[in-house]
Amino acid sequence: MDIFPEATNAEETLDPPDWADVGELSHRILDEAIAYLEDVRNRPVWCEMPAEVRAFFGAPLPRSPAPAADVYDDVARNVMPYPMGNIHPRFWSWYMGSSNFTGALGDFLAAIQGSNLGGGNHAAALMDSQVVNWMKEMVGFPVSASGTLVSGGSMANIIGLTVARNVKAGVDVRERGVGAMPKPLRYYASDQVHSCHRKAVEALGLGNQALRRIQTDAGLRIDIAALKAAIAEDREAGFRPACVIGTAGTVNTGAVDDLQALASVAAEEDLWFHVDGCIGALIAIAPKNRSLVAGIEQADSIALDPHKWLHAPFEAGCALVRDASQHRNTFAVTPEYLESTPRGLASGEWLHDYGLQTSRGFRALKIWMALKEHGVEKFGRLIDQNIAQARHLTRLIEAEPVLELMAPSTINIVCFRHRLDGASEERLKAFNTEIMLRLQEEGTAALSDTRVQGRHCLRVAIANHRTRRSDLDLLVTEMLRLGREIEAAIPV
Ligand SMILES: *Cc1c(COP(=O)(O)O)cnc(C)c1O
Repeated sequence: MDIFPEATNAEETLDPPDWADVGELSHRILDEAIAYLEDVRNRPVWCEMPAEVRAFFGAPLPRSPAPAADVYDDVARNVMPYPMGNIHPRFWSWYMGSSNFTGALGDFLAAIQGSNLGGGNHAAALMDSQVVNWMKEMVGFPVSASGTLVSGGSMANIIGLTVARNVKAGVDVRERGVGAMPKPLRYYASDQVHSCHRKAVEALGLGNQALRRIQTDAGLRIDIAALKAAIAEDREAGFRPACVIGTAGTVNTGAVDDLQALASVAAEEDLWFHVDGCIGALIAIAPKNRSLVAGIEQADSIALDPHKWLHAPFEAGCALVRDASQHRNTFAVTPEYLESTPRGLASGEWLHDYGLQTSRGFRALKIWMALKEHGVEKFGRLIDQNIAQARHLTRLIEAEPVLELMAPSTINIVCFRHRLDGASEERLKAFNTEIMLRLQEEGTAALSDTRVQGRHCLRVAIANHRTRRSDLDLLVTEMLRLGREIEAAIPV
């Protein structure tokens, strides 16, 4: 006899009443997803959303149910046609990867299995550690090093800079806080350093002024003599120089700091050596260009970004730390409800002991599946291919009198602008911005802009496995056409 008869019928679940229906819809979604990628080249890179699409996102919290097929139709109509555009072959804005289908399947399966990568004794946890080991191997780190998959490069940098702070604090900073440090710490990076490092030193309680921006040379790499002078000056003034951040591929121009020289300075000055390799760490796997990042293997910590040059679907970053115990000692905490057991699900190491998150997604699967499918060598060749494409664009710019290269192109980033005879810097900026916006609005190409040595320019960053040289040829042709049209339309 059922002791609780009324409970049986009242219980609900999120599972569908009929799995066969779900199968039909899922197959349709999959077919349309494949068609979406197959056709990506024929669609505009980006397109502005019409008013009714914007209004769609103002709808209130749904209170009553809707068929899953209708829910998908809403997405198909209002979301899928208006992407950021970074999967398109002519998307070169800022710096991001272009995703990949196998990785997307990995994300799907990770969500289906639903495992939490806080740790524990299960297959996803082993795979998470395996992917970290593969990352170590790619950059030449020792097997004894540790690492963790995080949301992206910003978080990966925070992990490295936090370990650096705790190791160099001169006090038990976990217990006593930054206020107890005998001397204020100083970190050093070039004036091209990514903005996430500012957020990091602020969040670490060190303050923005603790991050000294060192001038760069003509190649926009950190000036080693200026770095040494700054360290000496700070020691003299009572600070504790703690960490030097080398950038392997700056976000502005792709400059690669002299990592070997920085490793030597760090060793001489007893500094932590962190490498922001969000863009360039993986050049270490590219056969034609790997010498550019020589010295990266000497770092104490490295931040890298599988959602950039490994094209993992967002999000996937990775922090690596040479000394695993320093890494673990920075973050490990074992509350009574997370103690390990000798056997069973809670045996083994907790992965959340290597970072700030407790629950963690199964990011490893999308990286693992794409690496297994293509092999690391293909990813290396794709990196070389993007660098060769950037050189191709650089040559087109150099050969075209109305275009002007604005920074040396070292890797896959090209900074340039359209000339305008006799125009002020201000007018040049307005003119080039107009070209950039028309390229976006016409759906031809997405570029972004920046300032290099105080001068505004357009910027093409090719971290894209779909780009072909002919796309770059088209960019130049279209820029010249737009330049003529805009120039004719503006009063002199
Ligand atoms: C992209 C980037 C970052 C930040 O990485 P996210 O993955 O966007 O968080 C940090 N440093 C450099 C040099 C970058 O290019």
